Amino acid sequence: MSTTLFDKISELPKSCIQTEIPISGFEPITAYTVKGKHSGKHLVITAGVHGCEYVGILALYAFLSELDADSMHGSITAVPIVNTSGFFTGSKQTVPEDGINLNRAFPADRSSTDKSALIARAVQKHLYKGADFLIDLHSADINEKITPLLFFPVDEIVDESVRQKAKAAAEKISVSLRVASRAKNGLYSYAAITGIPSLLLERGGMGVWSESEVSECVKNLKELAAHLSILDLPDTYSGEKTAQREFTKNVYDEACDSGLWFPLVHEGQKVKKGDVLGKLYTAQKVLIKEYTAEFDAEIMYFTLSLGVSKGDPLVAYGAES
Ligand SMILES: [Zn+2]
Repeated sequence: MSTTLFDKISELPKSCIQTEIPISGFEPITAYTVKGKHSGKHLVITAGVHGCEYVGILALYAFLSELDADSMHGSITAVPIVNTSGFFTGSKQTVPEDGINLNRAFPADRSSTDKSALIARAVQKHLYKGADFLIDLHSADINEKITPLLFFPVDEIVDESVRQKAKAAAEKISVSLRVASRAKNGLYSYAAITGIPSLLLERGGMGVWSESEVSECVKNLKELAAHLSILDLPDTYSGEKTAQREFTKNVYDEACDSGLWFPLVHEGQKVKKGDVLGKLYTAQKVLIKEYTAEFDAEIMYFTLSLGVSKGDPLVAYGAES
């Protein structure tokens, strides 16, 4: 077998327009737009905000290659790799030039010349503009294992109609878990604050990808585009759907210091209040902290990396109410 995923993905459609979004002093970001023959909504899809999150990146190339402008009502703009230097250097969660997590760089700091701030500014200027809906694809980086999930905005800072539209779209996507989020500084969460119904999809993890995960992600994008009436899919397209659950009560434990992290749970595991989720030690084997569950919950994701820095995510868990 000498066929790669890229060999299997047909060429991008002729109607696909490639543009370069300028980042002052750095390499531009490549965006692709397919304008449908018929008018309709404009969907913006981003991936590769975290450079080692491969499922979403590959899914976007595959999704673009399957678009047919003649049958589309509306348009789709896709950016497979937002953080290009992070992608090519394999940087965990950060933009290598400044060491900042790009998904914490929104809203863009207008006075900063950090590359992450420049990228955030460019995303806000070129991608938020004209978007009727935005989805940001993530894949749990090289250090995390995750249950596939959708984050959707619930904070009152987001307009109620925007929250409703985001939730209604999430319900149409074949992902069994949707997580209520009050985040304000991510690419998708700030888009929601500015009035664009938005979601964040997490699928994949540990810096690996499989063709089946990529296919599932493409399916999710088609479901979203169909919900927005951009694509026309048969009612049977999604097949048998498992009911989507909503986690409204969530905890995201972070490392209180740099150290050695030993998780004691796995994604999807049910835990009881007080259960030990993992332990953090110094390099001299002194226990820094034991992380315990604050309530009966289910593990959404956890970090596998042994070495962690202060502020790194360790374990996230949630419950339906
Ligand atoms: Zn990510």
